Amino acid sequence: MYSDISNWAKSKKVTLVAVSKFRAVSDLMPMYAEGQRIFAENRVQELVPKFEAMPKDIRWHLIGHLQRNKVRHIAGFIDTIQSVDSMALLETIDKEAEKHHRSVSVLLQFHIAQEETKFGLNMEEAVEILDRNRLTPFQHIRFAGVMGMASLTEDAGQVRREFASLKGIFTILKNTYFAEEPCFCEISMGMSGDYPIAVEEGATMIRVGSALFV
Ligand SMILES: *Cc1c(COP(=O)(O)O)cnc(C)c1O
Repeated sequence: MYSDISNWAKSKKVTLVAVSKFRAVSDLMPMYAEGQRIFAENRVQELVPKFEAMPKDIRWHLIGHLQRNKVRHIAGFIDTIQSVDSMALLETIDKEAEKHHRSVSVLLQFHIAQEETKFGLNMEEAVEILDRNRLTPFQHIRFAGVMGMASLTEDAGQVRREFASLKGIFTILKNTYFAEEPCFCEISMGMSGDYPIAVEEGATMIRVGSALFV
């Protein structure tokens, strides 16, 4: 239930991102009324109409794989793109955000699960992106941290190890590239089935959908 999870997140000092995909605006407004201001969608087609229909002080996050040709539809309003998984995508976000004279926060999505199908970077690709950013900084991008999804498995030990690996990646990147930058601070991990483990392993941000509606 929303208020239980929201209060729990507050007690743990982690940010609750309310995943609103597949839900009607009328199901989301009660959470807004209770104070929720960060919502997330995984598809641009669903995100844009909800942005238009809902109050403008909501900070919208995109959490699903983003095609470059769709970036322009969200560049004018998106707060954070959590699912950055390539240099090419970053270049497009930077260019489209510039047209709106704004910056977009991004999380680098890492592939930490065993499933082949999940999108995400490996360390080598992330290093390539951040080396390039060090040389010629993206002007309209704020690197805010990392994001990952654990395997869909009953094996809690495996889930925990995958979350720990994301925390390890975060720490390396933080120390290497962002030691002086407090804003590179987010570790987005944990969904309805595994967010308590994620928080134990260092999540600063949890992305919860279905559990909010039961
Ligand atoms: C759907 C989704 C979530 C939330 O999943 P629930 O199991 O409904 O909590 C979190 N992260 C991503 C990337 C998602 O696509």
